[in-house]
Amino acid sequence: MSNVTVHLDLDEVHPLAYHALKANGCNDENASAVADTIASAERDLCHAHGLFRLPGYIASLQSGKVNGCARPRVERLSPGVIRVDGDSGYAPLALKTVRDPLARCASENGIAAAAIVKAHHFAALWIEIESLTELGLCAMAFTAYTPSVAPAGGTRPFYGTNPMAFGWPRPGRPPMVWDQATATQARGEVMIAAREGRELPPGVGINREGNPTTDPKAVLEGCLLPFGGYKGASIALMIELLVGPLIGEQCSFEAATTDNRDGGPPRGGELIIAIDPKRFGSDQDPYEHADRLFTALLGQEGTRLPGDRRVKNRQISAREGIAIPQSLYDRIQGH
Ligand code: NDP
Repeated sequence: MSNVTVHLDLDEVHPLAYHALKANGCNDENASAVADTIASAERDLCHAHGLFRLPGYIASLQSGKVNGCARPRVERLSPGVIRVDGDSGYAPLALKTVRDPLARCASENGIAAAAIVKAHHFAALWIEIESLTELGLCAMAFTAYTPSVAPAGGTRPFYGTNPMAFGWPRPGRPPMVWDQATATQARGEVMIAAREGRELPPGVGINREGNPTTDPKAVLEGCLLPFGGYKGASIALMIELLVGPLIGEQCSFEAATTDNRDGGPPRGGELIIAIDPKRFGSDQDPYEHADRLFTALLGQEGTRLPGDRRVKNRQISAREGIAIPQSLYDRIQGH
């Protein structure tokens, strides 16, 4: 496989994505929202959710599965529950549209949830979590995908890699945000390892015969394992319930049967819960209290806060730009 790469300055990422999306049927708003997501991922050096995903985004615009001119509709079902119909578009515009209404509901009620339905999710969850922590809210998010992870005791794909994320605001500093797949690794990471010819660490997945393997291509043909064995599998199950039956969207096993397999993400749902830490009756400042927790934690050698590596990556990407495979760049430009 060729290792030739193309260097890009960070400010070249957004226009590259935006123009490719526009050329394939997105209107300004949708192209811009997806390009924002891609540019944020590349800025934080999360390549698995950056330009690497663009061919998949484009494939689903071309196949007609995804509506590039989606107009998400927000409806408040009760004081604490908001529903967003994504109009079969990509999730970033629906997420952008719901952020302020959800924040208002959470501040009024102390806690609020947003159910995002009829959207196509391809990205990292920290993006929507960070945008809520910027408003002083604590937030968590969940989404499912198509089957690629074995259930506890099983050897065939059943759960999506079903990520969940949690963020805590830290006024004046980057928030604490963790964001993780419930699989041992996100599928995008395994795809990148396959592309780069890298072996996976032991325990990530099994081959088609159900045997452990470190070959990423064999894992993509077989399946990933849940993190932490049955404990991770139970969290994956919880996520299926939260973004399937709870909000009336597809579970991963259902998405497997309805998706047209064009290389883009299936239709699915996302649940976001936003919480206002100032509304729970603490007689202390919750942000200062949390900072004392973080300071105590960081007193141990070898520790760091989740999200810190990603935030530090911003300095590297601003200084050095990013490199993407020439083949990916050509594919994007060719569209
Ligand atoms: P990682 O295992 O790389 O990281 C998970 C989290 O753990 C991160 O928040 C990371 O922070 C934190 N972390 C890692 N090491 C440490 C440490 N030593 N101390 C403290 N915290 C640590 O993520 P995954 O591979 O599981 O997931 C990658 C991404 O893929 C996520 O953003 C997820 O949302 C996305 N995804 C999206 C899917 C979709 O369908 N849309 C499906 C599956 C995954 P840091 O970033 O700072 O290292």
